[in-house]
Amino acid sequence: MTTSTKTTTINYQQIRPEILDLQPQLVEWRRRMHQYPELGFREHITADFIAHKLNQWGIDHQRGVAQTGIVAIINGNSEGKVLGIRADMDALPVFELNEVPYKSCHEGVMHACGHDGHSAIALGIAHYLVHNKDKFRGTVKIIFQPAEEGPGGAKPMIEEGVLKNPDVDAIIGLHLWNNLPLGTLGVREGALMAAVECFKCQILGRGGHGAMPDQTIDSIIVGAQIVNALQTIVSRNIKPTDSAVVTVGTFHGGTALNVIADTVNMSGTVRYFNPKYEHYIGERIDAIIKGICESHGAKYDLDYWQLYPPVINNPQITKLVKSVALEVVETPLGVVPECQTMGGEDMSFFLQEIPGCYFFLGSANSDQGLDYPHHHPRFDFDETALSLGVEVFARCIEKFNL
Ligand SMILES: [Zn+2]
Ligand SMILES: [Zn+2]
Repeated sequence: MTTSTKTTTINYQQIRPEILDLQPQLVEWRRRMHQYPELGFREHITADFIAHKLNQWGIDHQRGVAQTGIVAIINGNSEGKVLGIRADMDALPVFELNEVPYKSCHEGVMHACGHDGHSAIALGIAHYLVHNKDKFRGTVKIIFQPAEEGPGGAKPMIEEGVLKNPDVDAIIGLHLWNNLPLGTLGVREGALMAAVECFKCQILGRGGHGAMPDQTIDSIIVGAQIVNALQTIVSRNIKPTDSAVVTVGTFHGGTALNVIADTVNMSGTVRYFNPKYEHYIGERIDAIIKGICESHGAKYDLDYWQLYPPVINNPQITKLVKSVALEVVETPLGVVPECQTMGGEDMSFFLQEIPGCYFFLGSANSDQGLDYPHHHPRFDFDETALSLGVEVFARCIEKFNL
């Protein structure tokens, strides 16, 4: 299920008692949000729950940022810089197959990516900070973001001024990560996650009798050549030391075995780390489709768009997170720099605006069967990671204003 699931030891002595004490509540909050998962921009029950907790603890917050987003502000007892902490809140259109007491009550919707855990950790840090204002300087802005899984809540939150007033100096965020075992942290300077671009293409040929191809323009033949040729973008256009992916995920055409298909519809996704490939791959796709269609007399319609830019971590803030990671997990194995993934994240929009670091918090435990991949209907994670996440955030906040 995962490439490496050996659980390393968490150094519990490094987790402060107030945060270890929070663990049962972190689990309770996470499970509560897990039971009532909601899709992007519909996180109403989740946002009510988070706001209820913030109210209960007397924490200033604003609701309705990018529809369902929440921004909480906590000031330390002395002046300092402003650090943003970002947690996403949305779930996925997945039917949960886990038989657990906290199984999703919303049929067909599931927290299959762990965002319930992210919001629980963010609540945990809010609770810790408001009760320990003497332990940190400056201001922490906690951003509960909707719709990470699409269409993306980070961008509209930025457009609505989430990074302003007070201006956020830097931002950190984490993703619980079942590709890494519990007790490890994936921290990496530079590109961590890939840009996500998407395309839909319709090939317009001329249909006809399956036995009389000379009277037709076979859209399936044209489409098949396109699928193959698109793979040359990665193998022949992208610099070999860079990484990129071109995937054709759907291909539909034809209605009967003895009919030549009039049209073919295909769609796919493009991933890359290096921002210099923005526009480039889309242009290559267009050129290849155009050339092949022209050579066969077919026509085409291509829609191509960027969903998220690559997640690029700032060196200084990454250094800070790494120094904290080295304190809380078993070293040196606990901090994993080889954690790049071609998955995407709209944390990238925050990182385009201000310096920051997004990192992975290992959450797999193969002994307990908690190692299904993200987005799988049996996805679940080792909840021990929750208090570890709060501790990492607490240390980053304290160090940021040293
Ligand atoms: Zn996801
Ligand atoms: Zn996710």
